[in-house]
Amino acid sequence: MSDGSTSPAGRGLSVGVVGGGQLGRMLGLAGIPLGFRFVFLDPAEDACAAATGLLLQAGFDDLEAVRELARQADVATFDFENVPESSARAMAEIAPFYPPPQALGAGQDRLAEKDLLVDLGAAVPDYHAVDSRTDLLDGLDRVGYPAVLKTRRFGYDGKGQAVLRDAEDLERAWQRLGDAPLVLEAFVPFEAECSLIGVRGAGGATRFWPLTRNVHADGILALSLPGGFGPDLQAAAEDTMRALMDRLDYRGVLTIEFFLVGGRLLVNEFAPRVHNSGHWSIEGSVTSQFENHLRAVAGLALGSTEPVEHSVMINCIGEIPPLSAVMKVRGAHLHDYAKTFKPGRKVGHITVRSSDPDYLKRVTADICHLQKSGCR
Ligand code: AMP
Repeated sequence: MSDGSTSPAGRGLSVGVVGGGQLGRMLGLAGIPLGFRFVFLDPAEDACAAATGLLLQAGFDDLEAVRELARQADVATFDFENVPESSARAMAEIAPFYPPPQALGAGQDRLAEKDLLVDLGAAVPDYHAVDSRTDLLDGLDRVGYPAVLKTRRFGYDGKGQAVLRDAEDLERAWQRLGDAPLVLEAFVPFEAECSLIGVRGAGGATRFWPLTRNVHADGILALSLPGGFGPDLQAAAEDTMRALMDRLDYRGVLTIEFFLVGGRLLVNEFAPRVHNSGHWSIEGSVTSQFENHLRAVAGLALGSTEPVEHSVMINCIGEIPPLSAVMKVRGAHLHDYAKTFKPGRKVGHITVRSSDPDYLKRVTADICHLQKSGCR
């Protein structure tokens, strides 16, 4: 049944996904019970989403291949935010494509992203465009040390950025990053990092999961803990997300990452997709981010985002602890992405759900102890 949209939602719906990583794989795992079929496009021959559907092996900028993906799909989406906007627009001429191509473009350049957020009235760290060494020195005059220098495009998991604490750091960072367009940001002495994940459906209805606390290790997400931020911060985060969704005529799941500093939220960045910090929702809420994304793009009614008990999500970085050990942990759910183990690579995650937050604290320490990297 459709909720007023023209999308062809129904049994056997074919979903075309640009990107075939673990996010695509979890979209597939959420959609198969709904009777959906999946086709992924990814340059990697061992793309791990292929376990849940067909794989077209091609580059994201291969216009003929993305058009073929769209022809095979009743509705198209993506699991990766660096899909070229030109590929998204080419697909959108053939099949409904959500979130809309302009949402992809808006988040791909950190400078344009911040300008958009400021225009919407959201608070962001002080920032300064850097296209030359002079710009960098001007920016430092403005934001002062410490500061964070980031490439405008293609940064993820802390890659393409450097913290500048003094002139020596500045020289090193300029040598490493100076060839690309950059943005300089004030270093935020945050009390916590958190993210809001929300979903907007075909008729403009929205739902939000609770703000989730995120702990990073070496720039990579290590732990996510939903809840505990209180109604005022939740409402402020939802207002920011609603404004962004309205501006982008959004459909699907959207994520905003925030710094909590001095009791208020500053936006770090947004991602027009399902997000690592929402993996807990598979077991920890009535409807997961993956299922609600599919419901939204298919034009179906959204599911409840209410949490079920308390949850913690622990990323497995570089390797997965022995299955036999994880299976002994009461309430633990292991997600192995079937990727080759490699230092610094997200290869799986473990969500533990319980009615007892103290149990989750103990068990998080136990699981971190089983891992050589990540949350240790
Ligand atoms: P990003 O790629 O922008 O998400 O940055 C990765 C991580 O670096 C963030 O999750 C923060 O832990 C840290 N970080 C990024 N920007 C800043 C900043 N302006 N101030 C302090 N820490 C930052």
